[in-house]
Order: sequence, then C-alpha cells, then structure tokens
Amino acid sequence: MTRTVHIAGGGVSGLATALLLARRGVAVEVHERKATGGGRFAGGWQVLENGTCRQDALAEIAALGVESSFDTIPARHAIFLDGTGRVFEVASREPFAYFVRRGGGAGSLDDALGRQARAAGAVFAPPGEAPEGVDVVATGPRQADGVAKEVVFSSNLKDTVAVLFDPLLTPTGYAYLFCLDGHATFGVAQVRGIAGLARARDAAWARFREVFGAFRVERLHDGGQFMNFCIPAHLSGRDGRWYVGEAAGVQDYLFGLGNRLALRSAGLAADGLLGRWDQRAFLERLRQPMIASVALRFAFERAGRRSFAALCRRAAQGDFRQLLVRLQAPRPALRGLSRVIMAIWRERRGCRHAPVCSWCRRRQR
Ligand SMILES: Cc1cc2nc3c(=O)[nH]c(=O)nc-3n(C[C@H](O)[C@H](O)[C@H](O)COP(=O)(O)OP(=O)(O)OC[C@H]3O[C@@H](n4cnc5c(N)ncnc54)[C@H](O)[C@@H]3O)c2cc1C
Repeated sequence: MTRTVHIAGGGVSGLATALLLARRGVAVEVHERKATGGGRFAGGWQVLENGTCRQDALAEIAALGVESSFDTIPARHAIFLDGTGRVFEVASREPFAYFVRRGGGAGSLDDALGRQARAAGAVFAPPGEAPEGVDVVATGPRQADGVAKEVVFSSNLKDTVAVLFDPLLTPTGYAYLFCLDGHATFGVAQVRGIAGLARARDAAWARFREVFGAFRVERLHDGGQFMNFCIPAHLSGRDGRWYVGEAAGVQDYLFGLGNRLALRSAGLAADGLLGRWDQRAFLERLRQPMIASVALRFAFERAGRRSFAALCRRAAQGDFRQLLVRLQAPRPALRGLSRVIMAIWRERRGCRHAPVCSWCRRRQR
C-alpha cells in the first residue's frame, strides 16, 4: 500500500491498528482529539480479560505483534459481594484478568501502544477532531447502549479487587472497586435503568465503604461514559471505511469488556486493509464470542439476588478462571440460545451504529 492510511481515534483499537500497519511498512497517520492516547479515560484501572478462552491474553497480544510493554498486574484473587451482604473470595491459578491502566500516563496501555506505533513509524497529527474521509474509524462509542460512571482516586486502601453483584442496587449491571498500589478505581456499569445510575453509584459506594472501612480518597477524578454494543457483520463498512473497537460495537455483552476484542479487531482490520481479510478468524474470534455473550447477558439480567449468591458461591469453590472459560466458551448450544434471544431483543427500527452492524438490541425509549 503506497498511500497514507488515516486513523480516527487514538485509543486501544486505533493505536493497535496504527502499530500493526506501520510495522508492515504502511504510512499511517493517527488523529486523536485529546492530547494523550485513550484520552477519554483518566488513568483508571481496567482489565484485559483472561477468561473468555483458554489462550492467555498476553500470549494472544504477542502473537498479534504487540509487545506487552505496558504495566500489567495479574489478577488471581477477588472478592465478590452479593446482594445479601455476603462476601466470597474467588481465586484462580492462572490470572483471570490482567489489570492495565487506561489513558495517557506512562506505563498505561494507550501510552505503550502509542510509543510502539511511533517507533514503527506512525505519525500523529496534532490533537484535534479527526478530518472527514479517514480510512479507519476507531473513535469509540457513538450511542448509549450502556453507561458507566467511574471515579479514579488515590487511597490508603490495601490492594483490593472487589465486585458487587446486586440486581436490586445495580440493576442490569455491577459495581467494582479496584485498588492496586494506592491507585483506585470505583465504578458502576449498567445497560438498562440508566436514569438510576447516580443512585446506584451512591448505594454501591456505601456498600464498599461498609465492607472495606473508611479508606482515604484523594485526588479524585470523576467521569461518565457511554458503552456501545452491536454485532458487526464485517469490519469494513458500506462507506468503504474500516471500523475497529467500540466504533464497530465490538465488546463482550456480558460484562462490557472490550479491550481484548478491540485489539483483536485491530489485527483483523489491519490484515483486511492489506488485502488479507480472514473471514474465518473474524467469525471465530469476534462474532462467535460476541454472539455467545448475548445469552449470558440475558441470564445475567434475569438473575435475582439468590441466583447471584449461588453463582458467587460456585465461583468461590473452584478455579475462577476455569469457570469463566467454561461458561463463556462460544459452544453451539450457547450460540443457539443467543440466536433466539437476539430475535426477541432485535432493534427493528434501525439504529445509529456504524454501518456494519448486523444485530443490536432494541433501545429503551
Ligand atoms: C468506565 C469504563 C470502564 C471499562 N472497563 C473495562 C475493563 O475493565 N476491561 C475492558 O476490557 N473494557 C472495559 N471498558 C471498555 C473499553 O474501555 C473499551 O471497549 C475500549 O476502550 C474500546 O477501545 P476503542 O479503541 O474502541 O475506544 P477508546 O479506547 O475509547 O478510544 C477512542 C479514542 O477516540 C478518540 N476520539 C473519539 N472521537 C474522536 C474524533 N472525532 N476525532 C479524534 N479522536 C476521537 C477518543 O478521545 C479516544 O481516545 C470500559 C469502558 C468504560 C466506559
């Protein structure tokens, strides 16, 4: 390819696409509106999930051609809180996730991807809105299929990885508190009941304070974000542009985790731009896991306090990563169930997703 490929958005998917193309000798220019990569995040913790397939997430990234030069903290232990006030400890031998920081700080996922892309020869336009007519759209969410409210702060809380599953407090969602090396992230993510999100956040915060005591909260940064979910038919849109990451709707529907899929979509799109589109890999590694996650989300939203308590108990009894992999593996029965749910939940009146969406959920009106 002789011309310059222009990429809108310098978050995980845009930076990874830039890096993978630049490594293969393609001239690339990244257009990011903020001064730092992944600019919509404020340095908080996110996970790179390691529980949707047997392959280790860092091994997958290495195979893609991305170095793990960002800080990672393997997660092998967590505390789950259920709606009845019980506390469960879960553990796994292999990490069920890797904690990474998002936003521009040194050692963050975005910072590392940006450095690798620059080193490979990618050019970065001055911060600002991407121009019209880019080749790759990596601008993150476009509409509110879900919303997350998150707070990043410094704290004296000892290392903690805690998740609260209480369908009465955080309907269709969950709350989390991660504190690692004195750096903490607290948030609530919900797909439905968005109007009640602020109330859910306050209640979840009170619950964590009850369990973990009066830890210090300093240098607080408060934010709210959309989340996009839709199942893409292809990563190349009808408008001739490529869509990656959340701009393509690529996100696990169960928990709203998108970093690993964003990286995967970057690899597939980079190959596609070079004329080596791999339809089979697209189906197996992107579409099938996403489809399978629809049935799991359906179950998640219908579970009551008792079911969550039972699930937490089960998680605490065995190896948590193995349980996650078993649960989320896109086996045919799960995908079959998802197809039925997708028919019921289907948005029939058109949607505003990127023009590659083949399925998305009916929106609340
Ligand atoms: C609060 C919250 C917590 C999350 N936690 C997790 C987690 O723990 N694990 C996980 O796997 N996923 C998590 N996710 C989802 C994950 O953040 C996304 O799936 C992932 O960031 C998608 O990457 P992306 O490159 O598509 O988008 P982004 O990382 O959002 O990058 C998009 C970039 O495009 C830029 N941009 C947007 N519009 C323009 C424009 N017009 N011109 C130029 N630049 C533009 C933005 O500034 C941004 O830097 C979370 C999401 C939220 C909201």
